[in-house]
Amino acid sequence: MKNALALGSLFLVLAAALLLAAESRICSVCGKACTGGYYTLGDETFCSETCLGKKYSCASCGVTLGIAPNTKFKIVTDVNEKKLYFCESCMEKPGCKYCGSRKQTELVNGVPLCATCRESVINKTEEAVPLLKEAQDLLAEKFYFPKNPTLKMEVVSREEFERRTASSTLPANVGAVHITHSSVKSQFSPDEKVLTIELEMVDSGMLVIAGAPKAVVFDSIVHELTHDFLRGKYYFIDDPVIEEGFCEAMAAMCSLLRGNPQLAKNRFTSQLPVYGEGFRKMYGMLQEKGWDETLSFIKSHSLTRKQYISKNLLNCINKEQAEIIKKKQVMPKIIFGKVQDAAK
Ligand SMILES: [Zn+2]
Ligand SMILES: [Zn+2]
Ligand SMILES: [Zn+2]
Ligand SMILES: [Zn+2]
Repeated sequence: MKNALALGSLFLVLAAALLLAAESRICSVCGKACTGGYYTLGDETFCSETCLGKKYSCASCGVTLGIAPNTKFKIVTDVNEKKLYFCESCMEKPGCKYCGSRKQTELVNGVPLCATCRESVINKTEEAVPLLKEAQDLLAEKFYFPKNPTLKMEVVSREEFERRTASSTLPANVGAVHITHSSVKSQFSPDEKVLTIELEMVDSGMLVIAGAPKAVVFDSIVHELTHDFLRGKYYFIDDPVIEEGFCEAMAAMCSLLRGNPQLAKNRFTSQLPVYGEGFRKMYGMLQEKGWDETLSFIKSHSLTRKQYISKNLLNCINKEQAEIIKKKQVMPKIIFGKVQDAAK
């Protein structure tokens, strides 16, 4: 899962000063010399209100900022990393779910989306396939992730997503989820003292919720590919803060490399309990200790598939076999047949 958006910057209060031309100053917008009155805002000079408005105007309603009553405004960075200014009254309207922009923000299937995010919305699986490829290529090139050729990805509606993930506990603002199915075949020896376990099938995939802009979908896909990487390499991580945090750190780094630093920045102030805390922990570890030490740390919090099955045996085998074990109150000796496992 991933989460975009955590604005929270304070309103800037910037009042332009109207001054009289004493010496010749150049307008920072039109380049002409300012004769008569001119405005200054920060260290910039504007020959007229029109030129001031060309640089400082609300991206939603168009009012000129810096002069009363619009001296209070906010800067919002959209998904294309463009900085936009919004006046105080436009900031009161609902913001885009993904970037917080108020630029022609409208509800699409109940979700507020700005004009820029609407332009690159992903609604179908075909539209997300190039993003999956881009994410797999980047992870392989920069972080040596093996490519999983059997991984399936599907873009589904929010309703379908909720229906198919009903059993898991996901935060309300999740954008995608990684799903693994595996089944084991287990068989008792005639004296019921030995249980042989074989892995029958493993299959992994991800569901992505339709309606998010490209940059956010790419970020979500990287997050889920990192779950897939961890599942293949270490199987089970015992602390969701570590696992989600590492997935968030990888998504942030790949979004940065792709030219979307805002998606990385938002995570530093994320208030989400597992994801925000996990991101800061694991991103910090990667920066301070480096890749190898971070992976060793994750490994020390993991169980291989064999260890996981041994520890959770009664949930991994069929009901009748579990009943036999419960009745006997003696654990059988476990022999693993074909159980693929990462070396530990
Ligand atoms: Zn996750
Ligand atoms: Zn000018
Ligand atoms: Zn406005
Ligand atoms: Zn947006």
